Amino acid sequence: MPTVTEYDTITAISTPPGEGAISVVRLSGDQSIEIASKLFKGSDLNKVASHTINYGHLYDPENGSLIDEVMVSVMRAPKTFTREDIVEINTHGGIVATNKVLQTLIGSGARMAEPGEFTKRAFLNGRIDLTQAESVMDLIRAKTDKAMQVAVNQLDGNLNHLISNLRQEILDTLAQVEVNIDYPEYDTEQMTTDLLLEKAKLVSQSIDSLLKTATSGQILQHGLATAIVGKPNVGKSSLLNRLLDEDKAIVTDVAGTTRDIVEQYINIDGVPLKLIDTAGVRETDDVVEKIGVERSRQALKDADLVIVVLDSSRDLEEEDRELLEATSDKKRIIIFNKDDLVHKISPENVDQLKEDDIVLVTSAIKNDGIETIKSTISDIFNEGIEDNNSSNVIITNARQAGLLLQAKDSLNEVINGIEMDMPIDLVQIDMTTCWETLGEIIGESYPDELITQLFSQFCLGK
Ligand code: GDP
Repeated sequence: MPTVTEYDTITAISTPPGEGAISVVRLSGDQSIEIASKLFKGSDLNKVASHTINYGHLYDPENGSLIDEVMVSVMRAPKTFTREDIVEINTHGGIVATNKVLQTLIGSGARMAEPGEFTKRAFLNGRIDLTQAESVMDLIRAKTDKAMQVAVNQLDGNLNHLISNLRQEILDTLAQVEVNIDYPEYDTEQMTTDLLLEKAKLVSQSIDSLLKTATSGQILQHGLATAIVGKPNVGKSSLLNRLLDEDKAIVTDVAGTTRDIVEQYINIDGVPLKLIDTAGVRETDDVVEKIGVERSRQALKDADLVIVVLDSSRDLEEEDRELLEATSDKKRIIIFNKDDLVHKISPENVDQLKEDDIVLVTSAIKNDGIETIKSTISDIFNEGIEDNNSSNVIITNARQAGLLLQAKDSLNEVINGIEMDMPIDLVQIDMTTCWETLGEIIGESYPDELITQLFSQFCLGK
């Protein structure tokens, strides 16, 4: 674990931008209390007890003008989020007042924090591991209660424990192998390979069960990516409007401050449904259309769930068939809409349906079957996140999943190596690589650029 290092004192507004009753401006670093004292009139912040909140006023040290009436929390190292001295100033929540406080703190010797820098310090000072740092971000972005619960769990260090235990197993095994090699008078060769093989398989199984949770983790974090497809006029927009009828909440997620991607979610009975755009999937020679079709196909590929809408009152056409074909390997709901009209097609006479398709009959006009769509989506969501989740540890991001896959590759090398009678020291190298890769997940061995990149995804003030 890294030890506490001296850094400059940073500051940022830690509450979301906009008007609120209060805003919080935070300082972290060994100059925090001294800098805040330059602005603050009330009790002497240098003398107040740690973890107290103090009433007073802030003045601009340049010209003595009053900035705001405030409450100031003083928290001394090391029992703080960053393990450094932290001061949190509660200001009146206007943009102007809050910015003025921030500027004055910067003028008095603090440096503007980078996005995620508070959490980064918590990590660099050994207060939390990487998975915990990531869960802070997950917590901020959680869209459902369940997602929040998983993030809190991870913040508690559950994934860290699991990974650390696996690493310890590997380390013990490697130590045992060393002993066996150092005392060759015993007939230990067989014992050594047996031990390595057994442990490699055991760790590999644990990694497998963790990896199985990755899909659930993604759904929890990013919602159920859903594409609604159907030829024109089957009633897609009408159905969507019906679905939104009672639950108008549209969740908009602005990912971090470094990227401008805005994703749209609709909230269906508590399920964040991330709608993905699909134009059409028809074969075409038109160049522009081709790009659209390519995009749609990619979007379909990325979808966790596809809703195919058919029109009961019209015969099945080429475009319907193409859509059914293009989505045949997906988890899908097939909707026979316009049930109120005379039927040309029905679930019984469309033979492109698969056994595991969920087939629903609706009328958007009459508002029939809409509740069933909602409960079906809700079931699929819950199924998705409850699978394989006995330990309550869920892999929620691609970085963790990628490293687990790498670690598993190394273990496969170990197993293959032993089965092919490779020299034991080569097998040891792969086992060591696995140990290192697992270490990267929790940040025991980490390249600098990873740390910079990872924390820059946080919001300012975190
Ligand atoms: P989209 O092109 O697939 O989005 O289809 P729309 O939602 O725009 O609907 C096309 C037309 O079908 C509109 O005139 C709707 O009023 C009508 N429509 C949609 N759903 C139904 C339904 O369940 N029954 C009937 N009779 N008409 C519907």
